[in-house]
Amino acid sequence: MLIKDGIPTAEDLASVCPSEERLAKGPIAITECFQNIACNPCTKACPQHAISMEPDINALPKVDPDKCIGCRVCVAKCPGLAIFVVDMTYSEEKALVTIPYEFLPVPAKEQMVTGLNRSGEELGSFKVNRVTSGGKTNMTWMITLEVPKNLAMEVRNIRVGV
Ligand code: SF4
Ligand code: SF4
Repeated sequence: MLIKDGIPTAEDLASVCPSEERLAKGPIAITECFQNIACNPCTKACPQHAISMEPDINALPKVDPDKCIGCRVCVAKCPGLAIFVVDMTYSEEKALVTIPYEFLPVPAKEQMVTGLNRSGEELGSFKVNRVTSGGKTNMTWMITLEVPKNLAMEVRNIRVGV
């Protein structure tokens, strides 16, 4: 349970998981943000105005699947490292999963890294497809991984090196 171990429940995740139909259309942000706290950088960051919060700043963010284009801008802006972008259209077998990352060393493009689930368990070795800085004043990196489609909703962290 999130409040005890930081791991969201299946019900939590089901509440933010896009439909299969939407996932088949292209990349989309998933806000794994499940606590009512006063926080809204995600809503301010989105150039598409795809993230809303009603009735106020204490509410949970909600992604509009029709407005989100999966641009990833919100990923590095979330102080809770709670936003991921999943692209199920990358290839026949693989999806792209973009995660926020604030550890060192930062992996390089094409490097193999260990993918971890939300509990920190290893899911395999995956290739880094893209590495993006959060910007000069933002130390959050965005790491995009190539993962088998059946793990796209499981891989949420990485370990670099042994
Ligand atoms: S991925 Fe881009 S379009 Fe989608 S919610 Fe984030 S900032 Fe908005
Ligand atoms: S910025 Fe991150 S932590 Fe804050 S409300 Fe948005 S998703 Fe949640």
